[in-house]
Amino acid sequence: MSQASNAQTSTNAVSDGGAAATGESEAIAANTRGPWPATATATAIAYTNALEVIAATEPDVAAAIRGELENQRRQLKLIASENYASPAVLLAMGNWLSDKYAEGTPGHRMYAGCEMVDRVETLAAGHAIALFGAEHAYVQPHSGIDANLVAYWAILAKRVEAPALEEAGAKHVNDLPADAWDHLRHSFNEQRMLGMSLDAGGHLTHGFRPNISGKLFNQASYGVDPESGLIDYDALARQAREWRPLVLVGGYSAYPRNPNFALMAEIAEEVGATFMVDMAHFAGLVAGKVLTGDFDPVPHAGVVTSTTHKSLRGPRGGLVLCKGEYAPFVDKGCPMVLGGPLPHVMAAKAVALAEARRSSFADYAAAIVANARALAEGFSRRGVKLVTGGTDNHIVLMNVEASFGLTGRQAESALLDSGVVTNRNSVPSDPNGAWYTSGVRMGTPALTTLGFGADELDEVADVIAEALRATQPASGTSKAKYMIDAKVAERCRGRCTDLLAAHPLYPEIEL
Ligand SMILES: *Cc1c(COP(=O)(O)O)cnc(C)c1O
Repeated sequence: MSQASNAQTSTNAVSDGGAAATGESEAIAANTRGPWPATATATAIAYTNALEVIAATEPDVAAAIRGELENQRRQLKLIASENYASPAVLLAMGNWLSDKYAEGTPGHRMYAGCEMVDRVETLAAGHAIALFGAEHAYVQPHSGIDANLVAYWAILAKRVEAPALEEAGAKHVNDLPADAWDHLRHSFNEQRMLGMSLDAGGHLTHGFRPNISGKLFNQASYGVDPESGLIDYDALARQAREWRPLVLVGGYSAYPRNPNFALMAEIAEEVGATFMVDMAHFAGLVAGKVLTGDFDPVPHAGVVTSTTHKSLRGPRGGLVLCKGEYAPFVDKGCPMVLGGPLPHVMAAKAVALAEARRSSFADYAAAIVANARALAEGFSRRGVKLVTGGTDNHIVLMNVEASFGLTGRQAESALLDSGVVTNRNSVPSDPNGAWYTSGVRMGTPALTTLGFGADELDEVADVIAEALRATQPASGTSKAKYMIDAKVAERCRGRCTDLLAAHPLYPEIEL
């Protein structure tokens, strides 16, 4: 299927509410759900048996696994960083690949007997390279944080350590005399980073003090225009010229628009910075070719990091993509930063990346964005104020202080009472600070996986607006306490149950 026809059918599916379109939107909905229904019977048997095996040893764990599925089936999941992986992805993690030690890289391991680990790691990396058009892929990072640490140390190794070794005429850090080593250790700590500020939507791992990245780098952050909520590239360029960072970090966890990575790469190049993009949140939109050209980070950044479990819909984990010049340094992620790789998770990454290479994944990615737009339009129609006024990606960031006179903390709790799971989030220049906040972040990857369409996202906007209109701060002083009309909360929960009943999670699995 060509990209153009994907885009067109997806648009039809989400915009036509009429009966004539029903057959087609059902087909698209089934398509965005990926390959799961084809293996329904096998999946049902696999989980029934797996839980029986676990219960025979520790019944409480089997009960918790069942309970988690019950919870996930009960709640409308609008957490922007969560998704539902396929049974194939989940099952690829539950096996004896987990028992193997495999420090090193395929063909260069510290342990014997790694043929099958080599095979899954090579498969996963190959899928990642093909899917993203990357020069190199490293699929060992255990999480997004680990992927970023591998990237930072690869950049430091290439740009700080390698020149120091060359100057000293040494091949290896072990060959440096004590004073040269001492000097090098300190110079790692003197490097500057420029990353997006937290209240503009950046991430803790982009140089903030509570994270090790902030203790390692001397960080300055760029924000967004206070009026528009958008990145101001001229201001960013001025700041970069002044700060002259070693690393310019792009990417976000709460920005509802698409940064222009081509522009950011130009800025990095001008000031001699390595441009790194953390696409943890939107990797699925890159994989599904929603983000192309200037908005695709892979051709523009020296190093790109990601999680695999968010919009990419794989197992919990991370990966690093890079230009060839960074590859030898990235490949030293273990043992530089990581312990032994998780071969079972790399196997699941290979499965997920294979799924993402199918044309149906492009339908899925297009539907994520169409659904986010429907949600944002649903809010705007109901008078709810959104950061930047809308969305171009999978995220909708609601300003609940401006819309309902609530803190993010109050709104998040009232929504949970109403059957909707979200998380509170800062808005630009947030008056309520990073703990209570003034925003609620929502995302559509999970509901889109279930097969929700635009009309249903409009209904979701209505449920959320109804719940928050019925919520008030409990006192003038507390930013946490709130009151919600119990009848309204109950009605909203019922509406969520109805929506979820039409799109059950893993319907093939019976508990
Ligand atoms: C989620 C996220 C991470 C961290 O991922 P973990 O797997 O939880 O470590 C890093 N960067 C960004 C931008 C994220 O959104």
